[in-house]
Amino acid sequence: MAKVLVFIDNPGQALKKASLELLTMARSLGEPAVAFNGDLHNDVAETLAAYGAQAVYRPSVADLDDYLVGPKASYLAAAVQTAGATVVLTENSAEAKEVAARLGIKLGAGVITDVVAVDPDGTAHKSVLAGSYLTAAKATTPVAVLTVKANSLTPEPAVTGTAPASVTVDVPAGATTAAARITARSEKAASGRPDLAEARIVVAGGRGVDGNFGPVEELADALGAAIGASRAATDAGWIGHDAQIGQTGKTVSPQLYISAGISGAIQQKAGMQTAKVIVAVNKDAESPIFEIADFGIVGDLFQVLPQATAEIKKR
Ligand code: FAD
Repeated sequence: MAKVLVFIDNPGQALKKASLELLTMARSLGEPAVAFNGDLHNDVAETLAAYGAQAVYRPSVADLDDYLVGPKASYLAAAVQTAGATVVLTENSAEAKEVAARLGIKLGAGVITDVVAVDPDGTAHKSVLAGSYLTAAKATTPVAVLTVKANSLTPEPAVTGTAPASVTVDVPAGATTAAARITARSEKAASGRPDLAEARIVVAGGRGVDGNFGPVEELADALGAAIGASRAATDAGWIGHDAQIGQTGKTVSPQLYISAGISGAIQQKAGMQTAKVIVAVNKDAESPIFEIADFGIVGDLFQVLPQATAEIKKR
């Protein structure tokens, strides 16, 4: 049975939903193990077991996060060899893709990015051209490295879970001494809102908000939602780039996506078209966003959103 190594880079306290999705996908390919970087406290260890991890490979050094991605790729290459893994699954974030690329070079492995599904024989389905098409690809190398888009599948715990073996992997000497060290980080103020990539409800604003995200924020807070944005809004500096949804932003797949003042360009749709219910507010009845909306409201967001917020607050 193929050994599948899931890279979980987990600086936070709880495991992200995306990590559970990777473990679920790993079980469909073979025997899952985890290369874990972070605080492996009891809750995390129990969750890894519940999702079928057979072994957890941890780095011999505790400060991998103090460096740029090079040492993580060195650790992962060593973990792949220790585990005898033939498939590596990672997230699809910019950093994870960089680690994947370096890992591919170290192992001579084929790297496939933007994966949304994988067949039991290792054939990966990846979205291309802003999600317009799916292509199938299979690495022809002994090891395949796949970066998987968040929200591509529903995480399912394993039928049975046993405590995984814990194995320390020696990070090769010199991997950290030669690497650039991070000397300062800018801390983002906590918003109290859910994480955008994992939120059940997202309210997103675009160029139509014209610099004023107030109505979007008020509706989001009334619904307990995360805030997203089009690239037009993030490029204008009205909201941070980490709120950008789309081809070059985040992929979200919430139960409810409310789009306000966004035209629905193909690059925006790439990040949100798998939402279960899409509600669009746009003052232009011909806007392409209405082609994929389940409910459309032709109107001014500065009138529609406050009305919706007021109604929700009454309940
Ligand atoms: P616009 O297209 O200008 O639309 C604004 C909409 O707001 C209009 O439909 C208008 O009718 C409506 N409106 C205006 N005022 C109001 C009002 N008061 N009430 C209600 N409606 C109103 N875009 C992304 O979003 N995400 C990406 O990741 C992304 N990646 C890209 C990658 C590449 C390589 C390229 C080339 C482009 C990318 N883009 C991306 C940009 C994308 O092509 C669009 O330019 C962008 O999505 C437009 O944003 P918008 O819909 O907010 O603005």
